[in-house]
Amino acid sequence: MASRLPMILDALALAERDAPVQRLMVALGGEKFAATERYFGEPAVLSRRLRFTSGGELILHDDTLVAVVLHTVPTPSATAAITLSEWIPGASNAATLDDLKKSIDGRRRFAGFGTPYFELGGGYARAEFKDHRGWNDPGNLVGLAFTVEQPGLTCRPEDDNCPACSELLVRDDAESLDVEGTVQALAAAAASGLLKEDASWVSIGDLLPLHESGLMGRVESQLTCQTCRRILCIALEKDAEPTLSYLALNETRQHRLGPIPPVDKWGDAARVARERDAMHYVDHESGRWFLVEQGDQLYLDARYVVTNMVDDSALIQLDAAELEQYRVAGRAYLAELAERIHYGSPHREESPFFARDLKRGPEGAAYREAVSKAIVNHTWLAQQRSEG
Ligand SMILES: [Zn+2]
Repeated sequence: MASRLPMILDALALAERDAPVQRLMVALGGEKFAATERYFGEPAVLSRRLRFTSGGELILHDDTLVAVVLHTVPTPSATAAITLSEWIPGASNAATLDDLKKSIDGRRRFAGFGTPYFELGGGYARAEFKDHRGWNDPGNLVGLAFTVEQPGLTCRPEDDNCPACSELLVRDDAESLDVEGTVQALAAAAASGLLKEDASWVSIGDLLPLHESGLMGRVESQLTCQTCRRILCIALEKDAEPTLSYLALNETRQHRLGPIPPVDKWGDAARVARERDAMHYVDHESGRWFLVEQGDQLYLDARYVVTNMVDDSALIQLDAAELEQYRVAGRAYLAELAERIHYGSPHREESPFFARDLKRGPEGAAYREAVSKAIVNHTWLAQQRSEG
């Protein structure tokens, strides 16, 4: 029996009325089990899901077929499981990743750690396993998703109706985006932990006051859904309609944001007071260290290398002796201290900097965020954001 994958690949990126899509629907059993549709984002995109009793599913965006999913176990969204061997000769529903590799004629790659996929001529086959692991043991395969877009570089179409983040957009009676309502919904989702704010962009609570101040041509907040990992980007612009897009990390890198003006230029009294207590940028040397202050304390955030693939930074509060040397020698002393941290393997317990690294302590996550906010206008990302 021949592989039916070409039938899937031929249909991708076409409209429902096109012959290859119609042929695929017949091959999936013809009988639709359910069709659901919802809009996502602004400008809105219509996401339609056609589920077939055979265990197949089509996902269309504004009538373009963006994904074909073969569910290998029954799910609430697909009553039955597909018989995978009818589509890929030799592949069983319980296949491991190695089994799939033997039956699928395509290069195996990974998008991030938990997402294996195959590169096919004219598309990709993403293998979904239970909890994004367990692909070495039979019985963990839950489905194969065929897409035109390379996995990892865009969002998974299956996440269009993620329960955590797809209901957050608020529309008014005229169906246009209710910016205030949406900002409130996003802020509430961030407060409850459903979304995580990216401290390298405008804080969601600052978005409206910054936009209304007119000091920035374009303001944008980015928040990552903790369930589906899509990044929600809400942008407000002078003389342009607001947008809200669901993006993958790689796509957000194309976005631009100028330097954020000082809070006292646009924040209300409470916000200005909060800023007074926050951590602030003092100085930095590109790629090496940042000096930040909070109250009368100084903190050095120094980069170090863990392996040639991974680096991190250690945040050290300067002690009395170090403060004194900094007052005497200035930046030269910081450079020397940063160098000692850099070569001092602060990730190892025997390092004198290990116990002092505030990012390792119980409040590590809070310190990381505070530093990120303090240096928001001074990172390589800030420089990249403002170009172009
Ligand atoms: Zn989500």
